[in-house]
Amino acid sequence: MPPKNADEKKRDTSLDLDVLRELRNIDQSLISLKAAFEKLKSAGDLTDDDIDVIMQEFEDFVSGKVTQLDKVRNDLRALYERYYEKYHDRAIVSVHGGVCHGCFVTIPPMRLDIIRRMDSIEFCDNCGRILIWESE
Ligand SMILES: [Zn+2]
Repeated sequence: MPPKNADEKKRDTSLDLDVLRELRNIDQSLISLKAAFEKLKSAGDLTDDDIDVIMQEFEDFVSGKVTQLDKVRNDLRALYERYYEKYHDRAIVSVHGGVCHGCFVTIPPMRLDIIRRMDSIEFCDNCGRILIWESE
């Protein structure tokens, strides 16, 4: 196979970023669902039917996640899984207002420029999480 040119690489990266964004959305939904479930459970407000509905939702999210994970490059997927474990469900975070929303460390302007361009996958220098640019 001929080596990829810059345009092809850029397109691959943009596809990777789309999948990462989707994964982050699913993880966020899972976190919210988990929190809602814990709250209802501790209030004693859950019927068996409620639990069935919630479990079905969990399964739907998780199967959506498996579909997305299958599209991720192997090296990226390994990193994602490592950080997912380490940081309890938040491996991909947004960069907003110049800070990493995983560890809330300020990102130097030069690094911000690189992340903003989104033609490469970038990681937080402090916590290592995968960074997704969020428009200001
Ligand atoms: Zn960070």
